[in-house]
Amino acid sequence: MDLVSRHQDVFGEMERLLASAKTLAYYNSSAETHVIVDASFVGLGPILSQKQSDGNFRPVTFASRTLTDVEQRYSQTGREALAVVWVCERFHLYLYGKEFILVTDHKPLDIIYFPKSKPPACIERWAMLLQPYTFKGSQIVIPDKLRKQTLQLAHEGHQGIVKTKLRLRGKVWWPGIDQDAENLVKSCKACQVVGPMPKQEPIKRTQLPDGPWQDLSNAENRDWRKEIPKFLLAYRSTQHSTTGKIPQNFYSIGKCTKLPEVDTEKGKDDPDTRRKDSEMKEKGKIYADQKKKTRESDIDIGDIVLQKQTKLTNCPQPSNTIRIMLLREKDHDLPKRTMKGIFPKGTVHLLKSVTDK
Ligand SMILES: [Zn+2]
Repeated sequence: MDLVSRHQDVFGEMERLLASAKTLAYYNSSAETHVIVDASFVGLGPILSQKQSDGNFRPVTFASRTLTDVEQRYSQTGREALAVVWVCERFHLYLYGKEFILVTDHKPLDIIYFPKSKPPACIERWAMLLQPYTFKGSQIVIPDKLRKQTLQLAHEGHQGIVKTKLRLRGKVWWPGIDQDAENLVKSCKACQVVGPMPKQEPIKRTQLPDGPWQDLSNAENRDWRKEIPKFLLAYRSTQHSTTGKIPQNFYSIGKCTKLPEVDTEKGKDDPDTRRKDSEMKEKGKIYADQKKKTRESDIDIGDIVLQKQTKLTNCPQPSNTIRIMLLREKDHDLPKRTMKGIFPKGTVHLLKSVTDK
């Protein structure tokens, strides 16, 4: 391995490591800040993390200390309250004068701020110590098992992604909560059924055939023997819209047959015609795509999709409901065209089903 490519490899690895969640991020005074408070039987281990430009949270600093013998005899809530106080002092440099989210159970703050009986001296002191800090409300850290249920509660009434996240925010937290909320809403069957249908796909232009009559087999479903003379007369004598040439000029009409023969010398290798054809087709495509605001479909063979119903069926549902449609093809090598063949209007009535993956 030469020196240059070795250096490139090392540099690439450094880039990857610097951007990974394992590496500490730089502190940014204007970034959204979370302080995750963690207290165990023997010690405290808070994390200060900040939202990065990519939307993910990355740790800025960690801290840890063991509990004294006396502190180890505190209740779990007492230890967590101690952790809140200690973390604010410990991360003072980062947190003072800044609004931040304290990620913790609500209980430790309750015992500090709303003690049921007259609090012991140390808790009164804690409340004093916490005064200079501005936390944006506490959030309950939801354990793994309850996250799905919490998400479903937040999505009750089938609000969109933004509103579902808004309901969660400020109340609960866990790592990756935003992504989980997005995934839930995107995969909600009810939301998909009433949601907007996909945009029409961009126009796919045909390639200019290598010679005349190459694509005749694709022509309309009529008896081509009868239709051909009418068609030929009109076609041959009219200037073609994309090539700008009169097709007559491409043929040499044989003396002993009514069918046209290809003048291979004349019809082939006309770069000017080919260029004009592709230019015109491109122009037409751009215009049509912009007008219809088309978008490339993400549906592929083998996907399970929802199909929009345009006609009333026997089902006691309104005409615009969608049913699940299996598109599973045995042969995955089939060209995409086959799929379009099943749905003559392309994929405009189909919606990729996320739920039934
Ligand atoms: Zn929903």
